[in-house]
Amino acid sequence: VSTILADHPALSRCPTWCAGHLDTDDGVVHIGQDRVIATSAGPEHGEVYVGVERVSTDPAAVRLSGAADRPMTPAQALELAQALTAAAFAAVTR
Ligand SMILES: [Zn+2]
Repeated sequence: VSTILADHPALSRCPTWCAGHLDTDDGVVHIGQDRVIATSAGPEHGEVYVGVERVSTDPAAVRLSGAADRPMTPAQALELAQALTAAAFAAVTR
């Protein structure tokens, strides 16, 4: 991060988990690194993503993507549960 960017008011309030931001109409969206969990149960294979994001100074939100109706093994479900737990803690930590 250059000096000019570091002085930007929105960027200077980056959460610790921030891996990159997007400028949107609603403000700066801080996005954390996604955790990717591969799912496979029966013939269905896929990927579920767990991440953290925050718009400007709003409280952070945990984001779960690709999980709709996706079957997974118990071990994968546990991995997903751990990823969600980690994301939830990251979202409330500065
Ligand atoms: Zn940021």
